[in-house]
Amino acid sequence: MAEIAIRNISKTFTDRSRDRDVVAIDNVSMTIADHDFVCLLGPSGCGKSTLLNMIAGFEQPSAGRIEVGGVPVEKPGADRGVVFQQPTLMPWLTVADNVAFHLKLKGLGKAERRERAQRFIDLVGLTGFEGHFPSELSGGMNQRVGIARALLMNPRVILMDEPFAALDAQTKLEMQEELVQIWQRIACTIVFVTHSVDEALVLGNRIAVMTRRPGRIREDFEFDMPRPRDITSPAFNDAKRRVLGLIREEATLVRRAA
Ligand code: ADP
Ligand code: MG
Repeated sequence: MAEIAIRNISKTFTDRSRDRDVVAIDNVSMTIADHDFVCLLGPSGCGKSTLLNMIAGFEQPSAGRIEVGGVPVEKPGADRGVVFQQPTLMPWLTVADNVAFHLKLKGLGKAERRERAQRFIDLVGLTGFEGHFPSELSGGMNQRVGIARALLMNPRVILMDEPFAALDAQTKLEMQEELVQIWQRIACTIVFVTHSVDEALVLGNRIAVMTRRPGRIREDFEFDMPRPRDITSPAFNDAKRRVLGLIREEATLVRRAA
């Protein structure tokens, strides 16, 4: 059974201030298998976040339907953990309390919350920082807190929207490597949105390249290069050339239409 089934999804927004409709996603279908690591790649504004938000249940499709684990998505749920570009932590809570936030909402006691949170704090490399506050941590460390918080509920699926885009280059590389290790260890399905070709090819075992808006899937291919991936190798560069070619074509079409 497909972990995520996206069936003929379209999304039209009404831009009220300009009194017109914006078609963000146009008839996208895709099935994502259990333990896939899919990178959704496309130019800014092509509808990547819109598609991810519909899988998350934050937005409803205008047409079509999405199922996760065979269940139609109607609203956000604990089966889907979400990580955004900014981790949106509670500044008044410690790392441990931020990670365990959802458990508090569920009414679990402090000792159990701490114990359950610790595994994920360790997993994202924040051991020793349990009592720190977000303002005392770097951007990369805060993003780790956001990832630990998303993993804590044992979701079937992790949805990530450009989570490393705001980080410096070195931290980004470290976080990418660690995310791959986490994915290998906890066997979840990841859908990762990015506009960076390098990032998609470092992370994904499947790459879905979107068209310019309205977003469709231009090309969707398996990328099973062994890990850790050497980004200077011929195999990596061949894939990069192919994907850059697709993206350049889309960009040219945008300029022609303008
Ligand atoms: P991406 O994440 O690929 O950069 P988005 O999914 O954020 O793109 O946006 C796709 C298109 O939909 C854009 O043209 C954007 O302006 C439009 N859009 C997104 N959300 C809304 C909204 N809530 N209301 C109106 N238009 C929106
Ligand atoms: Mg976006």
